[in-house]
Amino acid sequence: MAKLVDIHIHLVDEDYKSLFGYLKAYLKSSDTILVSVSVDLETSIENVKLAAEFPGKVVPFVGVHPQMADRADIDGFLDYLVKVKDVAVGVGEIGLDRRLGSKQELSEEQKKVFRVQMEVAEKLGKPVSLHTRGTLKEIFESLPSYRLKNVLLHWFAGNEDDLKVAVDRGYYASFGPAMVCSKNKRRLVASMPQEYILTETDGPVRFGGCFRGRMALPTFLPSVLFALVSVLNMPYDDVLVLIYRNSERYLGVKL
Ligand SMILES: [Zn+2]
Repeated sequence: MAKLVDIHIHLVDEDYKSLFGYLKAYLKSSDTILVSVSVDLETSIENVKLAAEFPGKVVPFVGVHPQMADRADIDGFLDYLVKVKDVAVGVGEIGLDRRLGSKQELSEEQKKVFRVQMEVAEKLGKPVSLHTRGTLKEIFESLPSYRLKNVLLHWFAGNEDDLKVAVDRGYYASFGPAMVCSKNKRRLVASMPQEYILTETDGPVRFGGCFRGRMALPTFLPSVLFALVSVLNMPYDDVLVLIYRNSERYLGVKL
């Protein structure tokens, strides 16, 4: 039976701490599959633990986020990844980040941390969940030098031409609450082949627009799915099955 899938959420983020009891109760009672990504060694360890507590519901990704790159213990992380390679389903959230604007110089440390994680994902045959804020061009340039199992451009923020490059190369793109409020985002999704669409919340990020600054929760997922129902002009159940199958193909595991 197909289930809702959040392909990118930060379940062990600090901002969820006060809601952790609620989230655990949600995990116990719901059938939703949550792919929980990491940002450093500590969150990687916590995600692997959480996945052991909720098998089949929490899918752990381990990784060092570009915003953490400059102060990360990358060697400690790589040792840990090798240790948990049989339980960590993928590597993420990794990537490059230009949050200070288009002129920001990317540090050598950030590029190195990205590169070594891409190499290890390639070696272990894991899918990657990529952060590409302001760096889609660099990411597109570097990707062909790796032979990766599957690539997700999480929170896809490029234009139609970027999306064409992505799907021509077989990359997945995920869309979340921003698509619910934005007509432009929905138009973009409508232009892409259905087999590369995935759904996410990126919780606990806060969303403006129609979500009025609320913190994203897994309970936002039905809204994301209903936005897709209108974009794809398909019945809800068919969209549910589509995203579920796309998620399985991207992750390379049976959900
Ligand atoms: Zn994220």
